[in-house]
Amino acid sequence: MIGFLLFIRFQDLPAPEPVSPFKHLDERKASIYESLRDLQFEYRVNKLSDDDYHTTKVELQKELARVLAEVDRIKAELGVATVATAKPAASAVKPAAAKPAIEPAPAATAPNYTCPACGAKFEKALKFCGECGKPMGEAS
Ligand SMILES: [Zn+2]
Repeated sequence: MIGFLLFIRFQDLPAPEPVSPFKHLDERKASIYESLRDLQFEYRVNKLSDDDYHTTKVELQKELARVLAEVDRIKAELGVATVATAKPAASAVKPAAAKPAIEPAPAATAPNYTCPACGAKFEKALKFCGECGKPMGEAS
């Protein structure tokens, strides 16, 4: 009966968007520890029979073992990935992104879109001049 109450309390915990894969597991772990403390307290003040105490304690410890195993599993998965990618990614992204930004304008071959009416130049073809609003021909 107490075990049921404690179990309900677990499920009532808010389940926020997992910021890290560990956050909700950490919270779950904390809540299990808290429940174990409560359980021991209630047992000590004779609110629980030995049976209730042991049954609930075993349930909580099973749950705790599951959470800890899950944490270990995720850590094992991420441990490899984060160490391998975090540092190179930070330094590799910048040069990779900078290069295309520097080189992209081969001005010599790029067509010049010049307004035949006012002479304004544009980097891309426009149906109408952005300066004077007159129609721009395909070829100028
Ligand atoms: Zn124009």
